Amino acid sequence: MVNKKEIKRLVVKVGTSTLTYDTGKINIRRMSMLARVLSDLKNAGMEIVLVTSGAIGVGVGKLGLAERPKDTPGRQAAATVGQCELMFLYDKFFGEYGNTIGQLLVTRDDFEDEERQSNLRNAFMKLFEYGAIPVVNENDAVAVEEIVFGDNDSLSAHCAKITDADLLIILTDIDGLFSANPREDENAVLIHTVEELNDEIYALAGGTGTNRGTGGMITKLHAADIAANAGIDTVVMNGSDPEDIYKLLDGRQLGTLFKAKRGN
Ligand code: GLU
Repeated sequence: MVNKKEIKRLVVKVGTSTLTYDTGKINIRRMSMLARVLSDLKNAGMEIVLVTSGAIGVGVGKLGLAERPKDTPGRQAAATVGQCELMFLYDKFFGEYGNTIGQLLVTRDDFEDEERQSNLRNAFMKLFEYGAIPVVNENDAVAVEEIVFGDNDSLSAHCAKITDADLLIILTDIDGLFSANPREDENAVLIHTVEELNDEIYALAGGTGTNRGTGGMITKLHAADIAANAGIDTVVMNGSDPEDIYKLLDGRQLGTLFKAKRGN
C-alpha cells in the first residue's frame, strides 16, 4: 500500500497508448485530466516530475503517416513534430491550472556521464525550487544507437533516481502485472505486490505491448528494478482514468506495487 504522507516527490510516467487514440491523435480528455490531477497534487505540496512518451506516436498522427516509420530517421522526424504538439498541449493544460512546465529532452548518456548527470540534477532541482513541473522525454530526434534508452519506462526510473523521488508511477493501458497474459487467459489475476523481482516475475512479462508505444511489461519490470535498487517503490497501473492516482495515494490497492529494496 502507498502512504501519501511519505510521498513528497513523485515521478509519473505516461505511455503513448494512454495518451493517444488508435488513430494516433491525442486523447485530449485524458491528457487534460492528467494535467489536472498532477496540478492538484502539486497544489497539495508534492513535487512532480512527468515523464511523457507520445512524441513519435503523435508525430505519426500529425504527419498523417499510415504507420510508425520503420527507419530511424523517420522516427526521429516524427518525434520532432509530435514533441511540439505534446508540449503545446501540456503547456496549455497545466497552464489552465496555474502551473508552469519545463521541458527536458534527455539521452542515456545524460545519466551515465557524471558531469552531465550532475547538470541534469541541477536543472531538476532548480525547476522544483522555481515551482515548475519538469516534463521529460527522450530526445528522440538525436537519441540513436548507443545513446538511446529506447523506452521511457527505464528513463522514468532514472529520473526517479536522479531526483531522489519517493514514488514512481507508471501509467499504462493494462491494470498491472498479471499471473498470465490477461489478453489471452481469462483466469489471469492481477498481482498486487511484488516484494522482489526474480526470474519467476520476469517470466510473467510477455513481449511488447501496443504498436504505438515501444514498451510492454518487460520494460516496466526493468524500470521497477532500477527504482527498487535506488530505494524507490514503483506502481504500474492503468492510466485510463488519471483520477485513480488519487485513489492510489489514498491507500487503495491499485495496480502492481513493486517494493523498493530497503536499507540502501
Ligand atoms: N520517447 C518515445 C516517444 O516519445 C517513446 C518511448 C516509449 O514508448 O517508451 O515517442
